[in-house]
Amino acid sequence: MSHWTLRRAAPVALCAAAVLGVSSAAAQQPAGPAWTRGAVCYEIFVRSFADSDGDGIGDLVGLTRRLDYISGLGASCVWLMPIAESPSYHGYDVSDYYRVEPAYGTNDDFRAFVTEAHRRGIKVLVDMVLNHSSNRLPAFRAALRDTNSPYRAWYRFAPRPLGNGPWGGTSAWRHSPVRDEYYYGAFSSAMPDLDYHTPAVREEAKRIATFWLREMGVDGFRLDAVPFLLEDGDCNTGCPGTHAFLHEYAEHVRSINADAYTIGEATWGPLTELMPYYPDQLTSYFTFELSDSLMAAVRDGRASGLLGGWLRLQDTLPAYRYSAFLSNHDQRRAMTTLGGDVARAKVAATLLLTLPGLPFVYYGEEIGMTGDKPDERIRTPMQWRPGAGLGFTTAVSWERAQADSQTTTVAAQDTVQGSLLNLYRRLIHLRRENDALGAGRLVPLQAASPQVAAYVRRAGDHAVLVVANLGGTAVTNAVLNSRDSALAAGRYTPRNLLGGADGAPLQVGRDGRLHGYVPVRGPMGPREVLVLDLARR
Ligand code: CA
Repeated sequence: MSHWTLRRAAPVALCAAAVLGVSSAAAQQPAGPAWTRGAVCYEIFVRSFADSDGDGIGDLVGLTRRLDYISGLGASCVWLMPIAESPSYHGYDVSDYYRVEPAYGTNDDFRAFVTEAHRRGIKVLVDMVLNHSSNRLPAFRAALRDTNSPYRAWYRFAPRPLGNGPWGGTSAWRHSPVRDEYYYGAFSSAMPDLDYHTPAVREEAKRIATFWLREMGVDGFRLDAVPFLLEDGDCNTGCPGTHAFLHEYAEHVRSINADAYTIGEATWGPLTELMPYYPDQLTSYFTFELSDSLMAAVRDGRASGLLGGWLRLQDTLPAYRYSAFLSNHDQRRAMTTLGGDVARAKVAATLLLTLPGLPFVYYGEEIGMTGDKPDERIRTPMQWRPGAGLGFTTAVSWERAQADSQTTTVAAQDTVQGSLLNLYRRLIHLRRENDALGAGRLVPLQAASPQVAAYVRRAGDHAVLVVANLGGTAVTNAVLNSRDSALAAGRYTPRNLLGGADGAPLQVGRDGRLHGYVPVRGPMGPREVLVLDLARR
């Protein structure tokens, strides 16, 4: 959905402290589907990815032809923004939940895409918009027209606005174009909220999930705007009924496919607002707080505040149950936030892809595409190669490209060692192959310089050390210490996994701590990042 924030914590029985306080909670929960280990997901706006038939609109056949690119990137999964039939360009208001948007292709095109994705070991998640339908959904049209329609109970009608909406005031109550009455639509008059108190609506949501899992072959869903699913009395975000429905829905999804993966957009706010959505609702949620802290650290060149959220979550949840990202389809593009600085973008990518969780990469981020609000401008056509249609289309694209689209392309970076694209490829593959990066415990280190972030990812005897100079100036003495045990005792030869100089030998005593370890000889350059594999000798 478009931008929103939760105004207050949800009044639910399961309080955050109860979840956050249990340090071994993560270990007590079952491991995720096998594919999530070391995985990275790739978010795609189909309309902007690849146009196969020359109408200027990306489509499923075009996307299927680009699967080798996604596979080459190393992504284990894709999340497709809404692909069901919709009157809007973005698709977040569905007019037929059982049919692919005709501009994107047919249901058979989608099935062919899933088959080809699976052949490459790529899981497919699709956006599922449950909070509201399009005002063109036949059920809403019937409900609007006929007060005796059984579909009246699918929506919330009232003779006058009943209380406030999530943005304050009664603006969520929309006047009917048919008679003097109102219906509830939190986001717009074209997006009437479905009423999940009605059993038939809950059953329909489950039937739609079954259809996409069984008939279309998807591996799970990204659920849009979940805090707004149910309204209970004066409560309109994160209400008890919403948590109960998410539990019921997720249970149904798992009954169809035990390995199905669901990830929700639950809050743009702090992690504490996310905790009421665990442990027994969707599989996972996006962690906007982690993303904000990562981007702030890279933008400001300051390490403090980077790792706190990750450390709290790793003691609370298994890593496959939360997802950080640099930016998504509702936010200014990461490269724009970082002022067009490729060195900063590389630091951000390296942090995201070496920290725990199941990271998501927004299409085009891997080549440093730029873009700022309004929404259409952060969802512009993928820049495959220079030229009129950018390799995206042979026609005029549905949305004009960015100003730097002729130079910031896949083609320009594809074979260039040290390009942003090749850094993404390297890191995503490393995460899959290197168990410490894929599943290791995060251990924070203390750097003498406030502009240096340092941590270890440790899995048993194997570890990876990440040291990042976030600042724009060189650090002459990158001294590292650890408060607690960070590594098994022994002598280590740090090998540079990104192809630069190896690190200095490291001796760890019985206490497992680092004492004044300096990983590099000489100064650490501005925005320089080391990812060092620590093999014990
Ligand atoms: Ca097309």
